[in-house]
Amino acid sequence: LGSDVTLDDEESTVVDDEDDVLGGLNIDSTEDIEVPERLVDQVIGQSHARDIVLKAAKQRRHVMMIGSPGTGKSMLAKAMSQLLPKEDLQDVLVYHNPDDGNEPKVRTVPAGKGEQIVDAHKEEARKRNQMRSFLMWIIIAIVIGYALFAGNPLLGVLAAGVIYLAFRYGARGGDSMIPNLLINNANEQTAPFEEATGAHAGALLGDVRHDPFQSGGMETPSHDRVEAGAIHKANKGVLFVDEINTLDIRSQQKLMTAIQEGEFSITGQSERSSGAMVQTEPVPTDFIMVAAGNMDAMENMHPALRDRIKGYGYEVYMDDTIEDDPEMRRKYARFVAQEVEKDGRLPHFTEDAVEEIILEARRRAGRKEHLSLKLRNLGGLVRVAGDIARAADKEFTEREDVLQAKDRSRSIEQQLADNYIERRKDYKMTVNEGSAVGRVNGLAVMGEDSGIVMPVMAEVAPSQGPGEVIATGKLQEIAMEAVQNVSAIIKKFSDEDISEKDIHIQFVQSYEGVEGDSASVTVATAVISALENIPVEQNLAMTGSLSVRGDVLPVGGVTHKIEAAAKTGLDTVIIPKANEQDVMIEDEYEDQIEIIPVSHLSEVLEVALAGEPEKDSLVDRLKSITGQALERKIGQ
Ligand code: ADP
Repeated sequence: LGSDVTLDDEESTVVDDEDDVLGGLNIDSTEDIEVPERLVDQVIGQSHARDIVLKAAKQRRHVMMIGSPGTGKSMLAKAMSQLLPKEDLQDVLVYHNPDDGNEPKVRTVPAGKGEQIVDAHKEEARKRNQMRSFLMWIIIAIVIGYALFAGNPLLGVLAAGVIYLAFRYGARGGDSMIPNLLINNANEQTAPFEEATGAHAGALLGDVRHDPFQSGGMETPSHDRVEAGAIHKANKGVLFVDEINTLDIRSQQKLMTAIQEGEFSITGQSERSSGAMVQTEPVPTDFIMVAAGNMDAMENMHPALRDRIKGYGYEVYMDDTIEDDPEMRRKYARFVAQEVEKDGRLPHFTEDAVEEIILEARRRAGRKEHLSLKLRNLGGLVRVAGDIARAADKEFTEREDVLQAKDRSRSIEQQLADNYIERRKDYKMTVNEGSAVGRVNGLAVMGEDSGIVMPVMAEVAPSQGPGEVIATGKLQEIAMEAVQNVSAIIKKFSDEDISEKDIHIQFVQSYEGVEGDSASVTVATAVISALENIPVEQNLAMTGSLSVRGDVLPVGGVTHKIEAAAKTGLDTVIIPKANEQDVMIEDEYEDQIEIIPVSHLSEVLEVALAGEPEKDSLVDRLKSITGQALERKIGQ
């Protein structure tokens, strides 16, 4: 097949076909797709990280994985634990130390032996207690017999009570000989995988419980209060620490020590408890650490810890997207099968439903001919779709369930943006026809994945003193920067001197959460329109960043912005040429809106300005001055 996808259905066939969404896979449903047994073989993409995990498992090296959430870091760490030899697993026992009750002894034995040892101790203690009981009752019988004989039954009963209590107390001492089975790997099928993300010190480094009855014969012996931390439970396996930088520096330092020494004593973590007096002999911490996080995490982690990984391990960057080819699409189909099986309750997906998931992966990539590797989120979509189908008692999850799920799993920002578009349509606040001076439909992004039309209005008035840029709302800085960028250009071609004018810029209905860095083309167009008194077409929206030379530079979120423009009823959208390959709008919008890629402000004005003669002369002037003349000016 040329891929890891194998089919158990004899009839299914695979033909490499570029246009086929399922990559030529021919299935009735995901039930026909076989899911590989080893977790490491279930990983989609991330071939670099996967290779490193395989290598690091063999060589027992630490690994640092940097990348976006939900791309498979913890999955790979867990996969690594499955690759480690199970034969090395150990049990750890903590014993009472007769010489110093506050320094319990630690013994390490092969996995499975720990339980046997504890059982043997219990059996011995049981026999001893039986013997003691037997003895006790004999003595009591003798005492009572003697008391009766002496004619003083009361004294006999009293003496019997004292003897009884004395024996009971003695028996407790016997119990303290039973070791505490701190780590039990008797029934483990693979090496341990321990997550220590956001763990407090006790959970990470182990702890000794406080004993409220510290004296008087009621106390729990100290060795029995010892608890293992993640570093001890991960012995011979993998310790996974996500967001490593959020671990406090003291804990990072101790983690370092555990890595260096391969063992770490357990002591009480809360300073004033009786547990703090106890410190065990060292407990083994021979784990492989997989540290994970985003770029920030790497910068903020303890430098020594980082060096340790660099020097003795591997660092790997996780991919966000992967090239979209038939083989990869077949793997995405397998991904759906994996997620369905992992959940265990979802109906399998029909061929059409899988196709819709793959299309969504394509869309979410935000990059031409790529698929998104943010698979935790995509898995979320699979689950929501499956839940919808399950709620309707369907045998399979169908395409319509996926479509409904997509609608339902929109982010808060998307829901807000849609709501906002609706409301503005009601009030006819977005102008989408005719032309107006100084008014331009800009485009912005809210959150990560929703676009919004954000009109910009500019007004130019003679100034009393030196000219000022006055903007409303949070976007003052962006407005100033945009005006500064165009002022160099305007100075060259316009008879108007904008340094003597006040420029008012209003972002109509901008609000919290709107990113405005991509509004400079919009602001520039609005200002030029106001300055020259040439109207701007209102059936059109634009996005783009601007250089001082008038070059239109790429921006983020073009797909979402274009979709927002279409939803709002606009029919043309201007985007930076450099963003052309990022456009991945849904089919339904393709016929609704024309996309015009541009690379220079003169092209923006050519499309956006109305009123032929004035516009033409303006555009010509702009073209003539933004060549060499301006470059020379800026070079000076
Ligand atoms: P991270 O640790 O990078 O935040 P996880 O490994 O916890 O992400 O991913 C969460 C879930 O998403 C996984 O359990 C798996 O179901 C799915 N997943 C994420 N990345 C991949 C991948 N590369 N291949 C297959 N499934 C993945």
